[in-house]
Amino acid sequence: MEHSSCISAGHFWPGIYKMGILDLLSKFKSKKEEASFEIDNCRFSVDDCNNRITVIMRDGTRNNAAEVLKNANDLRFIRFFICEEELRKPQFAPSLEEAIDWFFGKSYPNDGYRLTSWGKSSKMKCTFCESMVIFPFHIKKIERLTIYWQHIDLREIVGWRVSEVESEFGNGIPTKYFTIRGDHPVIKWDILRKKILCTRCAKQLEENDDRQN
Ligand SMILES: [Zn+2]
Repeated sequence: MEHSSCISAGHFWPGIYKMGILDLLSKFKSKKEEASFEIDNCRFSVDDCNNRITVIMRDGTRNNAAEVLKNANDLRFIRFFICEEELRKPQFAPSLEEAIDWFFGKSYPNDGYRLTSWGKSSKMKCTFCESMVIFPFHIKKIERLTIYWQHIDLREIVGWRVSEVESEFGNGIPTKYFTIRGDHPVIKWDILRKKILCTRCAKQLEENDDRQN
């Protein structure tokens, strides 16, 4: 094996590896709206991925992760995604910062392919009057996925994506559905035991409560 193909992926992201996750967290803590989130660390051997990970490389080519980890000299990528995911979730970015920016639609990867973003607010119908309620959410959890191949050396690619958000109405999973017009972002909210109230209905309920007491 050539020397260049034995370089571990860590060398390509010296910033991330040197800073460490705690440093990155405190960096984002300085911004108010992205205050605090958990990082979910997942690791997969590329041999267990069953060719379900597609990677878009820096030169724009698409390849499955096994092909990339076992044969590519340069492991730098623009993004990667899991094919046929039960719940279609965001794609993985090469850094935490990009994962957040792509999620909010603040920036997009420059690879010619489309990207879905979720923005910073969601909407649902009011339980009582059915008018639309728009409410903000923030990031609750980030998934950090390492796909590795242990051969002579350890070779790996590391990707980040937003995997859970939180709002006053509960927690949600960012997902998307597909139509002929493209991908549509949605948040799958876990709000079964809570009522969604518009300002008017909330005020009215409060007044009724006051009258009863
Ligand atoms: Zn209402």
